[in-house]
Amino acid sequence: MKTYRIATIPGDGIGKEVIPAGRQVLEALAKADPAFAFEFEDFDWGGDYYRKHGVMMPERGLDSLREKDAILFGSAGDPDIPDHITLWGLRLKICQGFDQYANVRPTRILPGIDAPLKRCKPADLDWIIVRENSEGEYSGVGGRVHQGHPIEAATDVSIMTRAGVERIMRFAFRLAQSRPRKLLTVITKSNAQRHAMVMWDQIALEISKEFPDVQWDKELVDAATARMVNRPATLDTIVATNLHADILSDLAAALAGSLGIAPTGNIDPERRYPSMFEPIHGSAFDIMGKGLANPVGTFWSVVMLLEHLGEREAAKRVMQAIETITADTSLHTGDLGGTATTAQVTAAVCAQLAKATVAASRAA
Ligand code: NAD
Ligand code: MN
Repeated sequence: MKTYRIATIPGDGIGKEVIPAGRQVLEALAKADPAFAFEFEDFDWGGDYYRKHGVMMPERGLDSLREKDAILFGSAGDPDIPDHITLWGLRLKICQGFDQYANVRPTRILPGIDAPLKRCKPADLDWIIVRENSEGEYSGVGGRVHQGHPIEAATDVSIMTRAGVERIMRFAFRLAQSRPRKLLTVITKSNAQRHAMVMWDQIALEISKEFPDVQWDKELVDAATARMVNRPATLDTIVATNLHADILSDLAAALAGSLGIAPTGNIDPERRYPSMFEPIHGSAFDIMGKGLANPVGTFWSVVMLLEHLGEREAAKRVMQAIETITADTSLHTGDLGGTATTAQVTAAVCAQLAKATVAASRAA
């Protein structure tokens, strides 16, 4: 029997509600399947930790995560602490510390979800966004001088490296190649940003030569937002810079029905470090502590985590359980227009997983 070591970091806000729910789903899965088990370690890092210790996570925190097979993360963001402190002190510290340079964000309209685009059939929207996750606009280079004086100045410098762009392009082309349509759209803004983005385009062209079977095109980021709304079926795999992909993937999530459903994986494709899986939403201050958060984004992130571990059958079982549950509108949370609670949705998915195993063992 394989035992996977999983770190759980609920973080702040509804992260504290959806991550225990995700753990419950993994436990239900392991209970029903003798092939593997999970060993969890929970980390209380985040806003409360900051109030006690003045930092979001311990200085040597990465060392406690290094030997894990994967990390399940909630959200960093506290109403009483500035967002740049919570984000840089926890989530980005892990993403950058473990060089999780590929952020992968699948989007689909799940069964039973009433998505906002009226002319879009569910089959038209099946995207996977690859976000460069290690540099670009989030490289953290910049400064602020003469604070409070009329001559105050501030910079955030976007750094792009050839090595960084090559590896994300190669990852995106390879991912596109693995999907049925073998179609990649490279998002750019090289009309306005005439140095780094021009290099980005040039490297995309170079890497494309390694993937002659992948059909690809280029789209300016602003035009891409309109294309996502007006011609969703023309997109499949999408690659974009750190900031562009961050924005496009919230739009993608909304077009698929809710931010509460969308998952993501922060992947180290070379597997030198553990990869980290999380719902794309944040702390949701407006609903935190009420048990109303949609846990589906976390469950789908669990699916990605299982796929990363190579547990494809188990991943499929969890995805089927999720889709069975979204198809039942009485199990929709508030963000989907329903009244179900986090606990009800979680219990339903766990029950579905237990049922799937009973069926499988009867068939055997
Ligand atoms: P948010 O995702 O927290 O919330 C946006 C809206 O979507 C809110 O109305 C919220 O109620 C709703 N929503 C989000 N997830 C939901 C779910 N699972 N179920 C039901 N409704 C859901 O984004 P925000 O308001 O921009 O940010 C709040 C805080 O979270 C900020 O501190 C921000 O920095 C942080 N944040 C963290 C991460 C992260 O750690 N990965 C990501 C985004 C935002
Ligand atoms: Mn975001």
